[in-house]
Amino acid sequence: MEQAILQVARAIEQAERILVITGAGVSADSGLPTYRGLGGLYNGHTAEGLPIEAALSGPMLQRDPALCWKYLAELSKACLAARPNAGHSAIAELQRRKPGCWVLTQNIDGYHRAAGSPAQRLIEIHGELAPLFCQSCGAEDDELIEHLQRPLPPRCARCAGVLRPSVVLFEERLPEAALGKLYDELRKGFDVVLAVGTTASFPYIVEPVMQARKTGGFTVEVNPSSTDLSRWVDVRLEGKALDVLPALLSHIPEH
Ligand code: NAD
Ligand code: ZN
Repeated sequence: MEQAILQVARAIEQAERILVITGAGVSADSGLPTYRGLGGLYNGHTAEGLPIEAALSGPMLQRDPALCWKYLAELSKACLAARPNAGHSAIAELQRRKPGCWVLTQNIDGYHRAAGSPAQRLIEIHGELAPLFCQSCGAEDDELIEHLQRPLPPRCARCAGVLRPSVVLFEERLPEAALGKLYDELRKGFDVVLAVGTTASFPYIVEPVMQARKTGGFTVEVNPSSTDLSRWVDVRLEGKALDVLPALLSHIPEH
């Protein structure tokens, strides 16, 4: 492992453009359950007998906002109860040391920003749980915590419309701005791509790794288990993000 960490550190040191892709595994070390473990939420059906993908879908938010919000509230409470960990901090510090380092995350917990990742170089492809905005008038609302103590769904202080987070619900499209940013950066290419704590089940997560491979870039996976991506990467760092990322950072000079 130590040898592999040194190899990755050397590649990062020499690289200008770096992409760190993160998934639920990074926040697992904060105590947030990963996708499949979400309090049993994603393991089958809700109390209403619906698949969770139906409860947390765009159509359900329109049809039965209170039901959809019941599960959005569960996610929100889990994220508010935990905090970013040393893995998120190591990524933010890596971005300080390497100004060409970008983060592409599937997480909706907002922990990268909270840990200090600069907004300009952070792509939250599945949106964020906070702030909320009004579906009717577009007003932004910063009172997620307060709303969770009131009857759901939360409503707009200005027009009483139903509020929602920017999170990409099932059956919804990815945010144009985030997608545009991602593909602009992919066109410029990356010298090193690290996939951390993700099963990489989406094409836009696999694509940057494949593109780096094709263009002579260096690819790394940080994950205690193997995934579909494992056989495609140059180096696998088999361990928890919380342990591996700070160890990796310790070998990258501050300049
Ligand atoms: P996933 O649950 O499919 O996969 C998690 C991966 O993390 C697995 O490969 C697992 O082996 C690995 N892992 C577990 N513990 C780890 C650790 N300590 N360090 C490193 N890796 C670890 O998650 P995904 O690939 O991100 O996709 C799931 C979807 O669920 C995404 O759409 C995401 O938006 C959503 N989600 C987000 C959060 C969050 O915001 N924190 C949490 C759960 C799910
Ligand atoms: Zn409104």
